[in-house]
Amino acid sequence: MDELFYFQKAAEIPCSCGKTHHILTQKTIVDHSLLEQIPLVLNQLHLGKKCLIVFDENTYQAAGQKVETILNQEKYKAIPLLLSHNSSSQYLEPDEDTRHQVGTGLKYQPDFMIAVGSGVINDLVKFVAHRSHIPYVVVGTAASMDGYPSLGAPMLVNGYKITFEATPPKAIFMDLDVLVKAPLELLQSGFSDLIGKTTANSDWVLRNQLQDEYICHYSWDLVKEALHILWESADQIPQRKPEAVRALSIALLNSGFSMALVGDSRPASGAEHLIAHYLEMVSLSRGENTSLHGLRVGVATFYIHKMYQRFLKEIDTVDWEKIASPHPLRVNKKILQEKFGSLYPLVEKEATQKMTSPMVFTDSYKKPGFSNQLRQMISEKLFAIPDIEQALNRSKTPSTFEELGFSRSLVKDSFLFSRFVRSRITILDILDEAGLLEEYVEDFL
Ligand SMILES: [Zn+2]
Ligand SMILES: [Zn+2]
Repeated sequence: MDELFYFQKAAEIPCSCGKTHHILTQKTIVDHSLLEQIPLVLNQLHLGKKCLIVFDENTYQAAGQKVETILNQEKYKAIPLLLSHNSSSQYLEPDEDTRHQVGTGLKYQPDFMIAVGSGVINDLVKFVAHRSHIPYVVVGTAASMDGYPSLGAPMLVNGYKITFEATPPKAIFMDLDVLVKAPLELLQSGFSDLIGKTTANSDWVLRNQLQDEYICHYSWDLVKEALHILWESADQIPQRKPEAVRALSIALLNSGFSMALVGDSRPASGAEHLIAHYLEMVSLSRGENTSLHGLRVGVATFYIHKMYQRFLKEIDTVDWEKIASPHPLRVNKKILQEKFGSLYPLVEKEATQKMTSPMVFTDSYKKPGFSNQLRQMISEKLFAIPDIEQALNRSKTPSTFEELGFSRSLVKDSFLFSRFVRSRITILDILDEAGLLEEYVEDFL
């Protein structure tokens, strides 16, 4: 599989979408025995010699200890920073406490920072490094998510997830000897997060066709390739075959690069992510367990994919005129206050906007052949993974919310109310405004 493409160095790409895209990460390497090569690459990047190396107990064992030793042997001054878990949650969270922990390391005035980990540790270091204007590199310990090269760092602020703009890493090191040893659950999380790109990109097409929102087909080409790899190698994930782990790592990197190209999460996050975020937010606010990000996304994708399939069959009967004109809504402020509880003030702005102003469409839906064209464009994204259930089963990844520990009533709420946390519209908005959402949810859930 040596032909798999990813951006191994920084790039400037004049694109048919009209933008010139920039990949800022100067070195991305996916390889065996990579940890030993890190000092050499750092020398080439001229980041300085004093670094703060951030890990938790798990990632210290996985790679942190070795990286620290290797750097000190090569005349770097590596200052270790061990993150400790907040006892109230099962996973390390990017919250006030962990941000503070990373921030305390700045007193050593490092020239640069090294994140050793995957999702949360990468996000935390990306966030703090950006805020303190110092560069960082990441040593990935699991192919569990696609945020390594992205320009965003999702943080919890008062229990609410906000994605902050942040500078991507100068280098990404994905050592396959480390990655194959990651807990299987993390691999499966990466796998099922990627599956969600089918529905995320379908939502993007919806907005492009109905609202003339900017779209970049090149970013889809990168993701499509990644999905193709994934569909092929699904069975090998549970066996942690190095080739499959490599393919998964590259697929995740490409999804991350697609976000870096576009400058936001549009190529990677749609209705399936809204549902995953809603479940996480509400569970955290109740002090309940959340499960892994990608696993939530994978199950949500399974349902959104089904909803899309039905929608495509019924598309000729959709009354676009009605959807885009003012009409009574299913929800009001009181209902949302009840559903979001203490989180409501944090979502109020977006929610109020969605409740008070009808969606703005261009005239495109009035053109003959609109439904057919939309159906065809969405199908191309949706069926890049031909069968979500089969993909999840082949990789032995959870395909029900029950397996992840969420109650049916919370899951139902996530489908009905998550659309109010973000202004970008998705299939959930279209169905809701068409008066179909509750029926669809009852049908599939
Ligand atoms: Zn995701
Ligand atoms: Zn483009």
